[in-house]
Amino acid sequence: MALLTNRDREYLRILYLLKGKNQPVGPVKLSKKLGVSKVCAFQKMHRLQALGYGTYLLRNGLKLNSKAISIVEQDVKRHHIIEAFLQKKLGLTHQQACIEAEQLDQSMSQRLFNKINTKETISSQSCCGYNLTHKLKVSDLKNCPWIQRSLCKTKDGEKA
Ligand SMILES: [Zn+2]
Repeated sequence: MALLTNRDREYLRILYLLKGKNQPVGPVKLSKKLGVSKVCAFQKMHRLQALGYGTYLLRNGLKLNSKAISIVEQDVKRHHIIEAFLQKKLGLTHQQACIEAEQLDQSMSQRLFNKINTKETISSQSCCGYNLTHKLKVSDLKNCPWIQRSLCKTKDGEKA
């Protein structure tokens, strides 16, 4: 089975942000949000369907399935756990911790992650307001700088 790349995971998060958990998201909407071409968004959505992360409904778009949702939940949680750890243990600012967490996440082994994924880390809330003890909601991603960095810059300040 083909491997889910970091870019694929990023697309899944943005589709989730666009409420892809509850409704199909069209390629135009996704392409505008990410600042990529419609063709590129369309191809990626078909790739995600082929990898088993949703169903592409004709003239509608991609609707994420539970497998996609659990990847997003898991990735968002992992990012914020690393971030919270860096803030708490190393005293980094939220902004620094967020950027470092994004970099570290890609190379951190599961063994090391398990070591920092402690009750103590989880009990500390990340500064972007994401609560590690709650189940992920779309609204949690709206103020997350990590998610914002994926979005098209010219869309800054635009209210969804
Ligand atoms: Zn972050």
